[in-house]
Amino acid sequence: MSDVAALYRLQELELDIIDRAKRIKAIKTQLEDDAALQESITANEEAQAALAEVEARLRDMELEIAAAVEKRQTAEQRLYSGEVQNPKELQDMQMEVEALARRKSVLDDELGKITSSRDEHREKADDAEARCNEARELHEQESEALIDEKETLTEDVNQLLARRKTSVAAIPQQAFKTYNRMRTAKSNRPVAVLREKACTICGIEQNSIVITAINRGEGLVNCQNCGRILYRL
Ligand SMILES: [Zn+2]
Repeated sequence: MSDVAALYRLQELELDIIDRAKRIKAIKTQLEDDAALQESITANEEAQAALAEVEARLRDMELEIAAAVEKRQTAEQRLYSGEVQNPKELQDMQMEVEALARRKSVLDDELGKITSSRDEHREKADDAEARCNEARELHEQESEALIDEKETLTEDVNQLLARRKTSVAAIPQQAFKTYNRMRTAKSNRPVAVLREKACTICGIEQNSIVITAINRGEGLVNCQNCGRILYRL
């Protein structure tokens, strides 16, 4: 194999490695970027917190009602016990019992409102939880395929790197140095295929001196325009 052919094969190998490395990087980003899942987790947490808050209010209200009922029972027991004889005191007690009954009625209305609010919140929280579970399941399924792909790509890259090492070892040092020096400046493509008489990367047609040199296989011949090493397939 000529030096230029060996360099071209090396370049193909390296481009292959670069492509796979790019895909691995993109997969890593995708695995970390779970915006949809995060969004549903946040929505669920908010819905559960809102439900917990309204449930706490409901418990407080139930306790307050129980306390009001007990207070009224105590007042009624005392009122009808016969222990109190003073008419003024009896009248005050009667008024207290009535006030407590009114208070209980107000609290019952309030309890009714909180109960229906709790039911609404519970429904929302259940929906949010279901959506969150769906998003998590979907993310796991997607991740599984991506992780498999990443593993395959990593194995491929390792094999390609081993092949690259063998290829480099077979290329004369001077030719490899030239190629290596040009690699960054030429965007990983120091070798350009010659089609007809033109460089396929910059598109410029080469003069007869260049074409003759290529035909004779005289070492590495550069494109007159972009300077890449020309290779006729
Ligand atoms: Zn060129």
